[in-house]
Amino acid sequence: ASVLRVREIIITDVNKKANEVRLLNEKLQAAYEELDTFSYTISHDLRTPLTSIKTYAELMLKNKSIDDNGKKMLDRILTGADKMNFLIKEILNLARVGRSDVIFETVSMPLLLKDITTEVWTAFKADNAELVLGQLPDLKGDNTMIAQVFTNLISNAVKYSSMVEKPKIEIFGDVNTEETVYAIKDNGMGIDNRYYDRVFELFKRMDNVKDIDGTGVGLAIVKRIVEKHNGRVWFESKLNYGSTFYVAFKNR
Ligand code: ADP
Repeated sequence: ASVLRVREIIITDVNKKANEVRLLNEKLQAAYEELDTFSYTISHDLRTPLTSIKTYAELMLKNKSIDDNGKKMLDRILTGADKMNFLIKEILNLARVGRSDVIFETVSMPLLLKDITTEVWTAFKADNAELVLGQLPDLKGDNTMIAQVFTNLISNAVKYSSMVEKPKIEIFGDVNTEETVYAIKDNGMGIDNRYYDRVFELFKRMDNVKDIDGTGVGLAIVKRIVEKHNGRVWFESKLNYGSTFYVAFKNR
């Protein structure tokens, strides 16, 4: 009888714990939702005044009565406004991911990667960066979201290897029984291993990237999208040698 009693106590305890976890999870989801709504609203509200700052600064810049000193100041205002605009767009993207449902479809990777690499190479003026493509198997997932994942990872690979003499970016995929895994490899500055746990954290940027523009939102978006797909994301890196980011999506 005492064995039965112990069993009963354990079962009650496990059930209680499971219930607590479920409640915590619900709270966490609700907090995420609130944060997404907050980010979404505030980003939208910031855009309108920012647009007028930009428009009027541009108009003043064209005004002949403004001297060189005044023009320099206006340039600073415009650079600041552009940076703010970029950050707002990134936060809006993150909030959008949180608020949208994943629509599963076949994502044609050769096509997608061709568009993305062309766009990224142009945006970062990366003419000297070599691109090596391996096998590019298709993925199952949300076209828009997957495009965002690869845009962010490839932009980072290009951005954080722009200082080496011969940047080389390699992209290749591999299908196993359960997942399709993609690797995006660069020979850039790498990541100090004391930051390993914090790389995907929102707004977190490493010490060695101070001179390079960025917001620390890109990888948080990647993580969020991959989680929404029940996929995985991780990386390997060596400071001053380069990094490889991996994403794995279920074959379904
Ligand atoms: P951002 O690039 O806008 O700073 P991310 O969220 O995309 O933000 O990346 C967070 C940080 O992780 C970067 O600031 C950088 O320190 C580091 N990082 C990301 N990708 C790489 C990479 N390929 N090589 C080296 N460091 C990287």
